[in-house]
Amino acid sequence: MKAAVAYAANAPLKIEDVDVATPGPREVLVKLMASGVCHSDWHILKGEWGDALFPAILGHEGAGVVQSVGDGVTRLKAGDHVILAWRTSCGICEMCQRGFPVLCTASPVAASRPRLAGSGSTLGAAAGLGTFAGYALVPEIAAVLIDADIPFAQAALLGCGVMTGVGAAINTAQVRPGATCAVFGCGGVGLNVIQGCAIAGADMIIAVDMLDNKLDMSRNFGATHLVNASRGDPVQQILDLTHGLGVHYAFEAIGLVPEPFLQSVLCTRRRGVTTWVGHAPLNTPVTIDARALMQEKTIIASMYGSARPHIDFPRLLGLYRDGKLKLDELITRRFELADVNEAFEVLKRGEVARSVLDLETVG
Ligand SMILES: [Zn+2]
Ligand SMILES: [Zn+2]
Repeated sequence: MKAAVAYAANAPLKIEDVDVATPGPREVLVKLMASGVCHSDWHILKGEWGDALFPAILGHEGAGVVQSVGDGVTRLKAGDHVILAWRTSCGICEMCQRGFPVLCTASPVAASRPRLAGSGSTLGAAAGLGTFAGYALVPEIAAVLIDADIPFAQAALLGCGVMTGVGAAINTAQVRPGATCAVFGCGGVGLNVIQGCAIAGADMIIAVDMLDNKLDMSRNFGATHLVNASRGDPVQQILDLTHGLGVHYAFEAIGLVPEPFLQSVLCTRRRGVTTWVGHAPLNTPVTIDARALMQEKTIIASMYGSARPHIDFPRLLGLYRDGKLKLDELITRRFELADVNEAFEVLKRGEVARSVLDLETVG
């Protein structure tokens, strides 16, 4: 199959022929139809999460059609439409049994055999998936069955950005109706935190970004107030908008530099809950005065929107059908696999909510 492979930090991806193993027990081979281009792929490409990840097929936000299944797979069959989930779970460990499968301590992907090979070497796959490719070979549990009438591009976005953002608001923070929220960062994940807050019934949703075009986008997803952090201290602007009280819930959805992590704590009111969603580069220390939390404030991090993929993906698609979850509006650009490097350029320039690679014709 063709795939976009990252060999080193900051080098362009190469489109290559890659060998894929046949499905083993409890594995499924998925013909990929669409993949979102997520910020996390860019983090990997910049080397921010370490060099050990190279070489790898990037991409972890995919949807497609089951091509074939290995022994013991009874839940899926060829022809089924699926969204891929980038965290797998064993079902048995403490976190799985408590209902937090994305925190599984025995993820089967890590233990699986080499599945991909190109240019004479074994390849990794971003988040165990590698969706910038014609196919993905994944554990059965990573493929979530969906209705066949959902368009693939929209479905793919649920696999990471939508789940991560909406899930941070409704699963992790559990935003309450009538709440006041602030969301730092209006990229693919931040816009979804905003619409998650809106779905949860928040009254006031303050979008914070440095770029006016992204702030404009945030209005479509439910932002009620806009704060441009390049024009004055965003914490003060949020306090001004909330009669000096601060917000009930704040979210950091950037994950690049320390400041917004700190600001997302300082802008909350007493008993405020701050949820860190952005995946920061390795070694990003956030320095905070210990007293800043003393008014019974909470900081929690959200992993993959506290997803329970086999529950949450169908539930979110139900909200999409009802017109309550915006997916069409997230797709700003579409690219062929061969133009994947251009997709990273527009992401870098902050021009898009999401770019989607169309993979239907990629063999
Ligand atoms: Zn992602
Ligand atoms: Zn587990």
